[in-house]
Amino acid sequence: MIAAMDHLGNPSSVHAEGRAARSLIEDARDSIARLIHARAADVVMTSGATEANATVLAAGWDTILLSPAEHDSVLAAARASGARLIFLPIDQHGRVAIEAVADQALRGPALGKALVSLQRANNETGVLQPVADLIPFARAHGIAVHTDAVQAPGRIDLDVTVLDADYVSISAHKFGGPKGVGALILRDGAVLPALIPGGGQERRRRAGTEAVTAIVGFGAAADAAARALADIPRQRRLRDHLEAALSHRAQGCVVVGAAADRLANTSCIAFPGQSAETLVIKYDLAGIAVSAGSACSSGKVSASHVLTAMGLAPEIARGAIRVSIGSTTTDADIARFLAASETILRAPALAA
Ligand code: PLP
Repeated sequence: MIAAMDHLGNPSSVHAEGRAARSLIEDARDSIARLIHARAADVVMTSGATEANATVLAAGWDTILLSPAEHDSVLAAARASGARLIFLPIDQHGRVAIEAVADQALRGPALGKALVSLQRANNETGVLQPVADLIPFARAHGIAVHTDAVQAPGRIDLDVTVLDADYVSISAHKFGGPKGVGALILRDGAVLPALIPGGGQERRRRAGTEAVTAIVGFGAAADAAARALADIPRQRRLRDHLEAALSHRAQGCVVVGAAADRLANTSCIAFPGQSAETLVIKYDLAGIAVSAGSACSSGKVSASHVLTAMGLAPEIARGAIRVSIGSTTTDADIARFLAASETILRAPALAA
């Protein structure tokens, strides 16, 4: 990325400087395409997954079917789209039943131009959705399929040719790349109206001069993410050890989505009666960064929409934290986390 900053040319310019910048973008596009087994021509650079999701959801659908556990960038864009929204129920493990889509498609009023938007993996729990199983059914009923696959690259082998969704969103910063860049992958050159009209960049699919430096970082991260897949079994062992040890130490703690297929690096653990916000601060003071599985607005802590949709009781959901591990996490890090947890969880819980 630092070397790319020396390239001052606009990638749309035909002079040598412009061509040099263009070739950096195309090399990065090749790396991104390789990571997810896509054709480079089908990869449209965006400012991130929020924009990729918004581009798909704003494409003039009559009906959008989606799960209540989608990321806010999907939920908000769906609400803003003016389409009729059908929420597909998720079970206690966080999974959508494909039959629910079938039920909705075959019953009730005609869906018109319809899209189902189902995330590949949940950002709070890591629970995987059966997107590939959905495709044959959706296609048979003329329903387009979008998957927010932001959490997948570098954690599972995201092969868009096997998945076969019409639209796939990814984001660089979820696998070590820079923030503010992502991509929308279109199936076999499928077309969508550009969300932002303007110049002819990205084959008229996304206007605006490309963020060359960020895109170069996106490409480098894609190469690294492809290599990082080999480390996933080790991360799964660390994660399983962490969860087992914590369950042993903290009476009544719940590993959310434990019975579902999940990403190997993500652990959502709820401590009944605790406040996630307080836990996050205590871990932070111990030098450990964890996230709260809940949102805090106007000073009031509310349980996460994902955990609520899974049917978790509010007093359990309010004490949910998310622990993420990665290729740099060691056995010693897990031991340090467990030692800190011993102190943190033994202290009397503060009121939420
Ligand atoms: N979708 C999911 C599942 C996410 O976890 C995120 C990131 O937080 C996004 C979408 C939004 O991605 P971006 O930050 O690239 O806009």
